[in-house]
Amino acid sequence: MSVLSLNNICFSYDRTPVLQNISYDFEEGKVYCISGKSGAGKTTLLSVLSGLAEPNSGSICYDGNDIKKINKYTFRSKYIGVVFQSFNLVTKFTAVENVVLSMEIAGVKGINKKKKAYELLESVGLDTDEANRRVLKLSGGQQQRVAIGRALSYDAQVLLADEPTGNLDTKTSIEIMKLFTKFNKELNRTIILVTHEEDIALWSDRVIKIVDGQIVSDEKVKK
Ligand code: ADP
Repeated sequence: MSVLSLNNICFSYDRTPVLQNISYDFEEGKVYCISGKSGAGKTTLLSVLSGLAEPNSGSICYDGNDIKKINKYTFRSKYIGVVFQSFNLVTKFTAVENVVLSMEIAGVKGINKKKKAYELLESVGLDTDEANRRVLKLSGGQQQRVAIGRALSYDAQVLLADEPTGNLDTKTSIEIMKLFTKFNKELNRTIILVTHEEDIALWSDRVIKIVDGQIVSDEKVKK
């Protein structure tokens, strides 16, 4: 079943076309990798998928409903988890406070949010001392882990991540991919990653290649 679909999406910055007539059905419970050269339109595609950038034409459906008809706030805070390249963390908050905040915004109830936040941060490789540090006192790689922990914190149906392992060493990249895979397998969540790293693409079910804002191939990954 398709959880997120793009129907004839076109997107331009000013008058420069960036996405050209993209249609694609992302199925529930699958891991996708969006690949392509720098400037191909991958980040723009993620912005459109996350509802942050509005296409010039075409529609995006979540569970069969046009996202224009879904409350934007609910869509972004509950249904979709996003790991941005620039992290977009609240810098004056600690790592744990950032994760708790996103659970509060999503309306997570019935669990100890702080406890879950520490557990999530531990699973992405941050100890208690690091979890209690203000985000600006953490390294780029550590901030990336906080962003991933935050995106996983409210069990969104779809997780979007832009180069999630881009700043990480090989060992940590593998740990992060294991965490995404666990989230995908145990909760049947859909994961859509932008990456230019071939090793990372091998963790996905399908690799979608973008050239000049168009999908030129969509291949199943041999396991
Ligand atoms: P990728 O993620 O594949 O590197 P992007 O989606 O970031 O590609 O960019 C696609 C094209 O859109 C590039 O030519 C880029 O220069 C242009 N672009 C990206 N962001 C903006 C922006 N905010 N304003 C104008 N042009 C942009």
